[in-house]
Amino acid sequence: MSTTTWHDRAASLSIDGRAFIDGKRVDALSGKRFDCLSPIDGRKLAEVARCEAADVDAAVAAARAAFEDRRWAGAAPAERKRILIRFADLIMQHQDELALLETLDMGKPIRYSRAVDVPATQNCIRWYAEAVDKIYDQVAPTPDNSLALITREPVGVVAAIVPWNYPMIMAAWKIGPALAAGNSLVLKPSEKSPLTALRLAELALEAGIPAGVFNVLPGYGAEAGQALGLHMDVDCIAFTGSTRVGKQILQMAGQSNLKRAWTELGGKSANIVCADCPDLDAAVKAAIGSIYFNQGESCNAPSRLFVEAPIKDAFLEKAMKMMPRFAPGDPLDEKTVMGAIVDATQLNTVMGYIESGKQSGATLLHGGAQARLDTGGFYVEPTLFDNVDSSMKIAQEEIFGPVLSVLTFTDLDEAVRQANATQYGLQAAVWTADMSKAIRTARALRAGTVHVNQYDNDDITVPFGGYKQSGNGRDKSLHAFDKYTELKTTWIQV
Ligand code: NAP
Ligand code: MG
Repeated sequence: MSTTTWHDRAASLSIDGRAFIDGKRVDALSGKRFDCLSPIDGRKLAEVARCEAADVDAAVAAARAAFEDRRWAGAAPAERKRILIRFADLIMQHQDELALLETLDMGKPIRYSRAVDVPATQNCIRWYAEAVDKIYDQVAPTPDNSLALITREPVGVVAAIVPWNYPMIMAAWKIGPALAAGNSLVLKPSEKSPLTALRLAELALEAGIPAGVFNVLPGYGAEAGQALGLHMDVDCIAFTGSTRVGKQILQMAGQSNLKRAWTELGGKSANIVCADCPDLDAAVKAAIGSIYFNQGESCNAPSRLFVEAPIKDAFLEKAMKMMPRFAPGDPLDEKTVMGAIVDATQLNTVMGYIESGKQSGATLLHGGAQARLDTGGFYVEPTLFDNVDSSMKIAQEEIFGPVLSVLTFTDLDEAVRQANATQYGLQAAVWTADMSKAIRTARALRAGTVHVNQYDNDDITVPFGGYKQSGNGRDKSLHAFDKYTELKTTWIQV
């Protein structure tokens, strides 16, 4: 579609920012709203319901009632499958609309929201739908005079709190397994990106998911989010976001009803390229492509690049040739590969880290400035620092923007030690032609996912989550069902 067509479509959108509770669009009980602004040009997209504790009570009550009368939990797995597959189909039928909402709301290029985010969202829902009538429970090997059944039951009312970097995909990673397992769900999207979640709830209802089973509450973290965290009738909270708020989620669970609390948090992933890397072009392409994808706003972005000294110059020469491709452009232009930063706050955070990099003595090789200032939106040049030291703030803290830190190493053991020396442990990578070295390094890296000689592989079939302060539990794959089910033992006397 042409850029003009996308802009025309954007101009003619009418967006409903009301919450979605018990199958209906409703205003916040207080009547309060907040402005939903586009980072593309600062335009106001909609007024969105500012849900607070009273709205949380209403949504949780609707979810609880739906769970108790078993309108969804009691449906045969094959029936839940049928309805969730229809939900996935409807998502694909609304591909352009959902992609446009996502791009307008959080600034990512339309080419990706359309070709990556919407398909990944529907694929996640579809995959859990297809899984749910193929999973068997267990019978324990107990003595002859008894029968012990080990079964999975839905945990009950699940609250999901998700961030703004992949609003639909992060929501789908919760919606898919939570609903397939028979739970009721209250989803709180980020205040920065509430629009697609609200549309997903409407499509779910249209697909046949009963009212009350899937509710969406837009609002602020400190209001709606905190009320969910502290709620006495939420059985499980599945959180994706920062490590700072993740710690609060665990505390809130402890302060309230000890709800099961799962956290998918930040990262500062290390990408280690050894001198015997089998394909330097592929390594450069993966390193640069992965850090600047989604404006650097990816939890698993390889933001620390460790390059072995003998190949560093060659690596950087190739990397610099790629940089112009990532110059920020109009997110509604299908040629654009880097869009807008989500809002002014995040822009200031990123610019603060760039300033810190300069002050601490790293060498700014590319970028470092804001771009497209005339648009009224928030754009940052792809930024590359060389001669970074592990003690620098830009090598320790998650920037969540298009900033790459390059560190040079001469000893692999020392590189691994530094790679592990942050609070995070989400992902890591090693590039070498020596398989034994690759396996030893992969074992030594303290991260939930380690990539060998690639960085981009991704599939719904594999678990995703972190070690250390990158969180607990795993999204994606059959392991995600662990979050949303209780294990029950039933002893029967024979
Ligand atoms: P964030 O500030 O922690 O916010 C995440 C969500 O929590 C938002 O919906 C936010 O609502 C809500 N929230 C904020 N304060 C809260 C509180 N006191 N109680 C309950 N909820 C609260 O994180 P973010 O800036 O949106 O997202 C970026 C972070 O997410 C990065 O650290 C990134 O690495 C991480 N992330 C991790 C994964 C993973 O799978 N490991 C995936 C994607 C992103 P409001 O926005 O409305 O305030
Ligand atoms: Mg927004």
